[in-house]
Amino acid sequence: MSEETEPLISSQQRNYAHDDAEHEAAQQQSRAIRIRAIIWSLLTLVFIVSVIVILFGPDHYGHVDWPGALPRDPDQAARKLLDMAPVIDGHIDLPIIARRVWRNNVSAIPLHDMMPMHVDIPRLREGRVGGFFWSVFVSCADHSAEGIDFVNATWRVRDTLEQIDVAKGLIAKYPETFQYAISSTDIKESITQGKIASLLGVEGGHQLGNSIAVLRQYYDLGVRYVTLTHTCHNAFADSCGGLETIPPLHYGLSPLGFKLIEEMNRIGMLVDLSHTSDMTAVHGIMHSKAPVIWSHSSARVVHDVARNVPDEVLSMIGTGEGQKDGIIMVNFSPSFVAPDGKADVKKVADHVQHIANVVGKKHVGIGSDFDGILDTPKGLEDVSKYPNLIAELLRRGWDKYELAGFTGGNFLRVFAAVEDVARQLQAAGTPPVYDIYRKRGDLPQRY
Ligand SMILES: [Zn+2]
Repeated sequence: MSEETEPLISSQQRNYAHDDAEHEAAQQQSRAIRIRAIIWSLLTLVFIVSVIVILFGPDHYGHVDWPGALPRDPDQAARKLLDMAPVIDGHIDLPIIARRVWRNNVSAIPLHDMMPMHVDIPRLREGRVGGFFWSVFVSCADHSAEGIDFVNATWRVRDTLEQIDVAKGLIAKYPETFQYAISSTDIKESITQGKIASLLGVEGGHQLGNSIAVLRQYYDLGVRYVTLTHTCHNAFADSCGGLETIPPLHYGLSPLGFKLIEEMNRIGMLVDLSHTSDMTAVHGIMHSKAPVIWSHSSARVVHDVARNVPDEVLSMIGTGEGQKDGIIMVNFSPSFVAPDGKADVKKVADHVQHIANVVGKKHVGIGSDFDGILDTPKGLEDVSKYPNLIAELLRRGWDKYELAGFTGGNFLRVFAAVEDVARQLQAAGTPPVYDIYRKRGDLPQRY
């Protein structure tokens, strides 16, 4: 018995001792796991809160705290910054490539492959693009066909509808990459989900068929900006021409152009002043109740071409007395950036810096014009290269908050403010604009 008991007891004792050690170890391990889980939960929570604050904070991704310092190396820092605050580009011409190369056959267009110009999905991802305006551009009509008063029928409205169709088709074809977006909130949600927010912009009043009703229908189709002119004058406004100024027709906005701006404000269509004459820009800024944009324009002081924005016009933008909020999204086209053969990422940064010096860093953004320009600056060859521009600005002393505004936050602020103005005008019962172009002969002169 004792023999039986003793070993049993001692064995039990040994077992207990063994259990105690195991128990202790197990407890320590589970404590460690719990602590690790708590730390990971906290870190995850901090990350999620940071992303939400950055995207949805009052200054969008402009002036907020986010985790961690940027690496010292500007190239690495640029990439890290863009991971948190991706590029929202004001103007990319992918749909015109679809039209000219593939006759708008969405099924045949291979956006996962190397596309012929500057834009495809792999390069958009490499460039940390979080959103862009798909320009649903069609060129100006031949002046002689359109007639001096722009009243002869052209195919511009049909062709614009086709460009809206091909853009939407491509957005829908790649749902894992693109997300159709029609509001500032949509853009933020797309970015949070890791998608590329895809918006539509019409590049010229000539695409409206002289009709404010067409403007409203474009809005209903999802278009969120209309550039008042392309390289030609139209019934609403004067263009700047191209590199050199062309003689004015209306001396800025026409009477119908003023009405167009009023309707754009009421419905929430962004007023885009790229391509316009200086007088059109001045009229647009003064008449618009909402902030204005230049979806793809650079600074005339840095490179003297008509297509760039002069300081007199830039100085009307801001939040001071008598100024209007707005954003100038810098164009990369070598012919607007520098003399022949001189355009590079540093020169583009000069435009950004000059606009920031005149207007403030909260009023500058990116409007590359990729796929709409034949040539590109050195270092900004396609949509994968945006980090080079951010790295250059980091070298010039821009901080991460200023850069997060530049990459997209500034545009989000302006877009949200335009949406607010539209809400206010609609809440106040502002009626739609039914003015008709007075040179039209197809409608009764009076009723
Ligand atoms: Zn353009």
